[in-house]
Amino acid sequence: MTVYRRFTISLAAACALVLWLGSPAGLARAPQAGVHLTPSGYRVPVYGMSRVKAADGSFSNECVRLNDPQIESLRFGRSVSRAMARWSPQATVQAVGDPVKATFKILYTDAAGAGFNDARDGAARKRALEASVAAWSKVLQGTVEIVIQARMEAPKDGKSQMLASAGPVDLVGLENIGVATALASQMLDLDVRNELGNEADIEIVFSPDIDWDYSVNGAAARDRASFVYVTIHEIAHGLGFIDSFVSETGELLNPIPFSYDVFVNRGSGRANKVTDHAAEERKRDLISRDLFFSGPKSIEASKKSIRPGPMVKLYAPDPYESGSSIAHVDQETYSDFKTGLMTPRDFGSGTDKIDILTLGIMADMGYKLVAEAVTARVKQ
Ligand SMILES: [Zn+2]
Repeated sequence: MTVYRRFTISLAAACALVLWLGSPAGLARAPQAGVHLTPSGYRVPVYGMSRVKAADGSFSNECVRLNDPQIESLRFGRSVSRAMARWSPQATVQAVGDPVKATFKILYTDAAGAGFNDARDGAARKRALEASVAAWSKVLQGTVEIVIQARMEAPKDGKSQMLASAGPVDLVGLENIGVATALASQMLDLDVRNELGNEADIEIVFSPDIDWDYSVNGAAARDRASFVYVTIHEIAHGLGFIDSFVSETGELLNPIPFSYDVFVNRGSGRANKVTDHAAEERKRDLISRDLFFSGPKSIEASKKSIRPGPMVKLYAPDPYESGSSIAHVDQETYSDFKTGLMTPRDFGSGTDKIDILTLGIMADMGYKLVAEAVTARVKQ
């Protein structure tokens, strides 16, 4: 029975993939600024964490969508070749002794002697990245390896204080929802990344010209940037914590919504999904300061959190803030390390923990969570 069931799921998945790959024309659209075009033709925002200096001289980190020159400068979306993937130093990260927890493979695609392969700093950088990935491996279940391509590359514009940027390499359409391949693979128990011919599920690029603190517990010395905290946040975007609403038009970036989009709700009193609204109404929704994540797991997490509410409040300021708005939890409500991993800004309270609001949202999108991890977060 089990074998039959697995076969059925795989067959359905294979059909979905074939259908999808057979109709890429459905994605043809006018050019859109500030997006990366995936190998399958999806328009995907790229999120990046920037270092911002306040008037009093203190620093904070702010997550924004990259604009076209920044994406171009970083060559984000440059798919790693099979040859490069094969020869790059690799690391496998898995919570020890637990076969249900997600396994990640990291491809270090820097040239020999540079970035993560640097003779002096490479080991500390790799240790910190692997600690960040381990934080996800401890809380997510998974049957299919998730591959992360990581490298260091300074933004070419010379003035950007970009710390790191990340996003899914590709998505696949499942039941009319665009799903990041890292997630689709777990949902289908099928190596979707490989089916699509991609070498990685997530791409993450770090700036080498930052005063990084590589402490593996996510803490950072004053005025230094926590490599681990920033990375845990950015990996969430690569795992699918992204929206595809276009603030100017109220349209979506693609003909179908992303996994995250379908849970974005106007108000918290009843089901009122923004994806069900017409474009004009959506434009108002996006700056309403009244958006919430409405999935059942995140509602449960919201009620248990230190900021209990009927739903998880999302960041939807007026005016719209590109990249900060929508695919982050509300800054004012959750600026605390117990709830604030996915706020658009952090103020240095680094940690290596993933909070229950983030976990609830990941679970609603389709990730299976490690049960004891959720319990531990509630007791945090
Ligand atoms: Zn972010």
